[in-house]
Amino acid sequence: MDPAVTSAPSGSRVARGSRRPRSTRPATPPVDYVLIGGGIMSATLAVLLSELDPGASIHVFERLPEPADESSNPWRNAGTGHAALCELNYTPQRADGSIDITKAVAVNEQFHASRELWAHLAGTGAIDGEDSFLSPVPHMTFVSGQDGVDYLRARYEALSAHPNFADMEYSEDLGEIAEWAPLLAAGRPADGPVAATRVRSGTDVDFGRLTTELFDAARARGATVHLGQEVRSIRRCGPGWRLTVRDRSWQTIGEPRTVDARFVFVGAGGGALRLLQGTRIPEIRGYGGFPIAGQFLRTFDEDLVARHHAKVYGRAEVGAPPMSVPHLDTRVVDGRTALMFGPFAGFSVKFLVHGSMFDALRTVRLHNVRSMLSVARDNLDLVKYLVKELIASPAARLRTMRGFFPAATQEPWTLINAGQRVQIIKPHPTKGGTLEFGTEVIASADGTVAGLLGASPGASTAAFAMAKVIKTCFGDEHPEWVERLHEIMPSLVVAGDDKRKDPAKPAGPV
Ligand SMILES: Cc1cc2nc3c(=O)[nH]c(=O)nc-3n(C[C@H](O)[C@H](O)[C@H](O)COP(=O)(O)OP(=O)(O)OC[C@H]3O[C@@H](n4cnc5c(N)ncnc54)[C@H](O)[C@@H]3O)c2cc1C
Repeated sequence: MDPAVTSAPSGSRVARGSRRPRSTRPATPPVDYVLIGGGIMSATLAVLLSELDPGASIHVFERLPEPADESSNPWRNAGTGHAALCELNYTPQRADGSIDITKAVAVNEQFHASRELWAHLAGTGAIDGEDSFLSPVPHMTFVSGQDGVDYLRARYEALSAHPNFADMEYSEDLGEIAEWAPLLAAGRPADGPVAATRVRSGTDVDFGRLTTELFDAARARGATVHLGQEVRSIRRCGPGWRLTVRDRSWQTIGEPRTVDARFVFVGAGGGALRLLQGTRIPEIRGYGGFPIAGQFLRTFDEDLVARHHAKVYGRAEVGAPPMSVPHLDTRVVDGRTALMFGPFAGFSVKFLVHGSMFDALRTVRLHNVRSMLSVARDNLDLVKYLVKELIASPAARLRTMRGFFPAATQEPWTLINAGQRVQIIKPHPTKGGTLEFGTEVIASADGTVAGLLGASPGASTAAFAMAKVIKTCFGDEHPEWVERLHEIMPSLVVAGDDKRKDPAKPAGPV
């Protein structure tokens, strides 16, 4: 038996799923770090911890038979290396018409931090070179109509003045746009106002492949990745935590086991909210989740693939969640190139693709009912939008695609399921609750448990998010780790979001 995982005595309180084990005596010596979930976040944290704390025991638990089979699977996300080169939601327009680029600069730096980490790991031979999971694909934004053109021009002027975006190109000439991305122009009337920007240095990232490489690197340094093992509960146990783990493989179905840990990271994607609620840390009170399902259209048609080499983002419909704005993407997975269009959003009560119809219901608590009800009340446009998307016919989806690719036809495209996003419902002192579209690290005051909620900018900023977990939970005790992160990823300094555990202390680099 794995020394870190102990069978719960049959008939014990833990085995019966009682809410709090009486005994706080560890069944076996606690492991140093338990990471829940086999996606890009846990993989990134596992490799960072193995670098900062060599020799420590690191155990990852994933409920599915393979890692990276929820949102980090390459066909469940769009693989955009989000660097704010093409996504309009990072550059809101102020009331005076000017463009706020603060968020765009932060996201750009956060993606740079990821690339610095990958380059560092490839440089030490821990993972393959970037070309095993990253492909250069230009990032474009395309708009039509005078409003859209005016906004895009203002955005281009604001962004291209910043050194990180200096290589952005802009055009209102359909002929030139056709040279950048022929499908956008094919069959489009020549008289309407259109505009596009292009950044040639954009990227497509196979986060599934990257996740696997990161776990391999962590394993090579002694970490253990347990597959088919579902964490059912996390309870306080002395200074650390006791986890109940169920083996989902057919041999041992139903046999719960326990593992004690000094530190727990909940990187369970859509499963994170419920597990964090189970810890009963006050920091999670009031939080809820709003699930948004998704689908993509995908084609491997050689002619179409040959005529489009870009990720093209447009403007959001009224009520559309920012990261569900459809885009026409070149996608490279396992050396094969496809085009993807989507995601089409929809409502689902599941929090994971491989989840349960009761996922949403199981996260309703007395302390989050108010925030959830206020979000339902204040986001009717979003609800209308999701219902419309949910009942959209194939013809309606084709019409949406024709906004980007006017000559599109139905035949070469197949509908596939995207990952499930769980947007954060956050408590708000006056409104009751707000719907957030970002990512948020939740950590206990003593830094022994942390988790990640939310969906975007997502995988692209995993290095930044996990550096933040390390700084929040270990920064006081191990300032040298923060220094080391800073050496590996110099962009962390400018990536922003320096929310410190103790604001009285001087700002650290993360
Ligand atoms: C439609 C869509 C498009 C996206 N496009 C992009 C994009 O273009 N670029 C980008 O950077 N990001 C994108 N994202 C976001 C990105 O995919 C996610 O942010 C990222 O994959 C999340 O990684 P994770 O490790 O937190 O979660 P996941 O990859 O979902 O992994 C969580 C894992 O935890 C496991 N788990 C859950 N509960 C338990 C439990 N109790 N015990 C054990 N294991 C458990 C799950 O099985 C899963 O494997 C997109 C997401 C979606 C849904």
